[in-house]
Amino acid sequence: MPFLNIAIDGPAGAGKSTIAKAVAKELGILYLDTGAMYRAMALCALRAGVDPNDAARVLPLLEVTDIFAKCIDGVQHTFLNGEDVSGLIRTPEVSKGASDIAVIPAVRVKLAQTQRNIAMESDVVMDGREIGSYVIPQTPYKFFVTASVEERARRRLAELREKGQYNDVSQEEMQSEIAARDHTDSTRAFAPLKRMPDAVLIDTTDMDIPTAVRAVLSRIKR
Ligand code: C5P
Repeated sequence: MPFLNIAIDGPAGAGKSTIAKAVAKELGILYLDTGAMYRAMALCALRAGVDPNDAARVLPLLEVTDIFAKCIDGVQHTFLNGEDVSGLIRTPEVSKGASDIAVIPAVRVKLAQTQRNIAMESDVVMDGREIGSYVIPQTPYKFFVTASVEERARRRLAELREKGQYNDVSQEEMQSEIAARDHTDSTRAFAPLKRMPDAVLIDTTDMDIPTAVRAVLSRIKR
C-alpha cells in the first residue's frame, strides 16, 4: 500500500507549518518542514561567503553539501553536513537567502529528491511551496493555505517579537518583506509557488488554526 502523503503549500506566514504539524500529530505521522532544508542550504552559502543568488558559485557548493532532516522527540532537526543547524536558520538573513537560493533549479532538484525519498518510505505531511505541484504531484491530498499579506505580516511580526527579534521593524516593513518573498517564490521559472487546480484552498485570514486543521483532516481518508 502506498504511503499517506499530504502536501500543504502556501506563502510565508499563512499558518501552513502550524497546520501541517497539528495534522501530522493528529494522524500520528511524520511532519517535514521543507523550508528548513532551503534555509540550511542558504546558511551553507552564507558561511562560505557565497551570495545565494550566485548560481555559478552555489553549484560547486551544492555538490559537496549534505542536507537532511530528522525527527527527534517529535521535533524536526535539520542537519547541514552532519551539524544540527536548526537553531541557526531562523534569522532574517537566512530567510532572504533561502528565498534567493530556492530559485536555482539544481538546488530544488536535489532537495526535492531527498523529500521524495522520505515520501516513498513513510506517511508524511510536508509543507512548502511546490510540494503538490512538483515534489509529490501524484498525491490526492493537496492543500493551499493562504491569508492576506496584512494578516501574514501581523502574525510573523508577533511571532518574531515574542522571540525578542524584529523589535524595530514596523508592520509596513514586514509587509513589504513578505510581499518581496511572495514575489520571488511565485515568479521563479522553475517550480514556483502556485495553487494547483486540485489543491483545496484554505484561507486563514479570518479562520483560526483548529478550524483549518479540521478542514484538512476532514478530507483525509486512510
Ligand atoms: O517556509 P520557509 O519560510 O521556512 O521557507 C524559506 C524559503 O525557502 C521560502 O521563502 C521559499 O523561497 C523557499 N522554499 C521553497 N520551496 C519549499 C520550501 C521553501 O522554495 N518547498
